[in-house]
Amino acid sequence: VLVVEDIHKSFGETEVLRGVSFQVAKGETLVFIGPSGTGKSTLLRCVNQLTVPDRGKVWLNGEEVVHSHGKINLYRQKMGMVFQNFYLFDHLTALGNVEISLLKVKKMNKKEAKEKAMHELERVGMVQKANFYPAELSGGQAQRVSIARALAMDPEVMLFDEPTSALDPELTGEVLDVMKNLAQAGMTMLVVTHEMGFASSVANQILFLEDGIILERGSPEKIFYRPEFERTQRFLSKMT
Ligand code: ATP
Ligand code: MG
Repeated sequence: VLVVEDIHKSFGETEVLRGVSFQVAKGETLVFIGPSGTGKSTLLRCVNQLTVPDRGKVWLNGEEVVHSHGKINLYRQKMGMVFQNFYLFDHLTALGNVEISLLKVKKMNKKEAKEKAMHELERVGMVQKANFYPAELSGGQAQRVSIARALAMDPEVMLFDEPTSALDPELTGEVLDVMKNLAQAGMTMLVVTHEMGFASSVANQILFLEDGIILERGSPEKIFYRPEFERTQRFLSKMT
């Protein structure tokens, strides 16, 4: 579905991405790992074009992503993004947070939007808390609402940037379970995470990023048990 070719991105003098290419087929999950500051977040932002790459191309379903007006917004709707800090609207309930883009972006009427939003909350196990405000939710629950919000737009690809790293360990599991279910249901996903258990059980491919390039990539079995580079090994040994 998604082809990313030779992405470069600099901020001032710093070259953060130095030519990153990968592909993800429909229904696959790619997991990105790597040390802090190596450009993982920047890469996800370049994929959904929240950040414009200096060089390189992105294709979705064979169509090159171009920066003509309107089109880029349509493209972004097809990319569901979930961040470390959920960014929910505090003044809206869980339901309200999921409904809002259905009303504003998809122009659904109130009844349709509510039905769709409740369906998405059900997928993440949050129906019981539909009328709670973000301040009344645990971090894990808030993150599940933000996943429901992204799913409500019927994205083709879901991008997760360290979705559990702001959560206590006991809340991490419930979010990872939701993500596992999504992967099993056939969602195409790009995930940046330090959760190696999740990576090894869910990823079709793991990509190890360092200093703005993909140093090594392969199946979980290869990356965890037969990494080619000493650098990969050293990173992994610190993780577990
Ligand atoms: P972490 O694991 O800590 O989240 P990361 O791999 O996601 O790290 P990025 O957030 O992509 O790394 O950042 C890579 C580098 O790019 C960092 O040195 C960061 O300071 C720099 N950077 C990122 N965004 C910007 C920006 N908008 N302006 C200037 N520099 C930036
Ligand atoms: Mg990051």
